[in-house]
Amino acid sequence: MAGTGPEHRGLAKAKGYIQIDQELCKGCGVCIFFCPKECITTSTKLNAAGYLPATYSTDSECTGCAVCALVCPEVAIEVYRA
Ligand code: SF4
Ligand code: SF4
Repeated sequence: MAGTGPEHRGLAKAKGYIQIDQELCKGCGVCIFFCPKECITTSTKLNAAGYLPATYSTDSECTGCAVCALVCPEVAIEVYRA
């Protein structure tokens, strides 16, 4: 129902951001697939190992849920809560 969510009761929504280690990332795309907020895209710049790494979109609405970090096989993602 409209007007009953936490944001309408004056409570802050969970906010966060992530940092992706561009050199650890192998560009597998798993984090991109699983992020519920579509916060992650693929870089257009190759890393030193020759992969196109995942990149955080700074204008996205990351909730800090940490799903991306949990599914990353390279442990390349750090999650921060704002
Ligand atoms: S913490 Fe959650 S919302 Fe933020 S980028 Fe990762 S999966 Fe997406
Ligand atoms: S899941 Fe990890 S290794 Fe795969 S694209 Fe995302 S950051 Fe890179």
